[in-house]
Amino acid sequence: KRLRPRQCLPVIPQGIERSRFFFAIDELSNQLGNENVEVNDKPLDDGWYMEPPNTHDGMAITDGEDLVASAVVYPGCTDDVQKIVHWANKYLIPLHPISMGRNFGYGGAAPRVRGAVVIDLGKRMNKILDINPDDSTCLVEPGVSYYALYEEVQRRGYKHLWIDVPDLGGGSVLGNALDHGVGYTPYGDHWAMHSGLEVVTPTGEVVRTGMGALPGNNTWQVFPYGFGPFIDGIFSQSNYGIVTKMGFGLMPNPGGHESFLYTFEKEEDLEQLVEIVRPLRISMILENAANIRHALQVLALSGKPRSEFYEGEGAFPREKMNQYLKDHPYGACTWLYFGTCYGPKETRQLKLDIIHREFMKVPGARRIDPEVLPPSDYFWSRDKIASGEPDLEELAWVNWWPNGGHVAFSPVAPTRGADALRLWQMAKKHWIASGLDFFLDFVVGLRELHLIVECVYDRDDPKQRSKALEVMRFLIDEAAEKGYGEYRTHLLLSDQVAGTYSWNDNALMKFNEKLKDCLDPNGILAPGRSGIWPARYRGRGWEL
Ligand code: ADP
Repeated sequence: KRLRPRQCLPVIPQGIERSRFFFAIDELSNQLGNENVEVNDKPLDDGWYMEPPNTHDGMAITDGEDLVASAVVYPGCTDDVQKIVHWANKYLIPLHPISMGRNFGYGGAAPRVRGAVVIDLGKRMNKILDINPDDSTCLVEPGVSYYALYEEVQRRGYKHLWIDVPDLGGGSVLGNALDHGVGYTPYGDHWAMHSGLEVVTPTGEVVRTGMGALPGNNTWQVFPYGFGPFIDGIFSQSNYGIVTKMGFGLMPNPGGHESFLYTFEKEEDLEQLVEIVRPLRISMILENAANIRHALQVLALSGKPRSEFYEGEGAFPREKMNQYLKDHPYGACTWLYFGTCYGPKETRQLKLDIIHREFMKVPGARRIDPEVLPPSDYFWSRDKIASGEPDLEELAWVNWWPNGGHVAFSPVAPTRGADALRLWQMAKKHWIASGLDFFLDFVVGLRELHLIVECVYDRDDPKQRSKALEVMRFLIDEAAEKGYGEYRTHLLLSDQVAGTYSWNDNALMKFNEKLKDCLDPNGILAPGRSGIWPARYRGRGWEL
């Protein structure tokens, strides 16, 4: 346990007197039951991935109590969520909804506004409402994790159904999709695979989107659009509503799969590799998200701390990396490509042959034979994930530092060699200058490439923490100058990232603010999320 002592108990949201806050809390307890309203007056326990805190960010990158909740509430149904929203409007108390609070690297469960009341939806609203084995769809509440959904599909004996899982399987299916998370089967674009939302608006109405608006429908999870404007988009990465139900399409079992791994020697190989990947990925010869990783992560994926490889300061030396990889089954290299082909043997062999022929055009490329890899090798974790089985292996690299934390820089580029190389050179420059260690992963969704730079730091080292935040800020600015924007970011960096999407005198943010003021006139829901501040907060020093 890593308990942090508290300074003042509890933190009260700005703009409300202490006594009135406690009066309001008593009122809410009467409505929801005492056991479902918890004031945050205990030491902050950072927990770990499987027991994440719901009061703050377990990987806090700033000091002390900047981003803590005043209280946590546990609704049991949509009606409870409405009650909470009405209550917050009455007392002007900011709310921060989370599904399961495992948004590590992007702020965890922490509210952007200190002292907001966290709505932990996942604790009690965790039902799998439907799995339809004929349509291959499901309908879930916020507390359904990938593990829970996977296990239920198995329990019901639906051998013909797969689910799609991200790198770590403990998070919420609904929460991940809302934040544009991805997975590694052909159904990896979670938001694209959703169909139907149930949302509680900031003024307390309940809306069902798509076919869900039609009473008596049996099409909510099979046709996402319904009739009229497709409003689902405004509920993702936003603060316009609390999503209480979400539907998804599930992938049919393809009748077999086979994972593969290629290594590439030189840094510059990235350019040629990405040029090879683009046409293969767009035409779906490469069927799942391309995953091109920098080899330093292999050392961290061993689960051993950095100090076992190198005790010195500054960025991890390249020779030490090569030294380790030389004796590893992967061999010395710079980039690793993890991929998977689907279908019966004869179908996938056709694709595997094309991929092999194309990848081997890069001088020095090597195919690693999975047969030589021990069952504990990370390759097999990728194989599980790419076939829809949740896994936790990915956690290993966080132990690079004692009390390891991470924060991500996630710019989007077209899948072009020159862009990938430019992003790599930019990241490398800051990597070396900062003296921190970066783990890099180029993920090609379909046409676009997301570079994920995970900057790892020791949570107990304030110097490393502030350096990590600083380097993120440099990267965001430099990327924007070159025309690249982030697809997702840490809550402390949201204002900066939102500010880079400034075309036509910030027209997009002006539109977002107009929507915010209309849907949430009292500005109670997740103020500041994605850089969107309600009128009550704007221009009062909240923006970072
Ligand atoms: P996960 O469930 O994957 O661990 P979180 O619960 O931390 O992820 O959700 C990630 C972010 O998405 C949260 O910080 C919150 O801003 C937003 N979010 C999550 N669930 C909901 C929801 N049901 N309604 C509205 N916003 C949500």
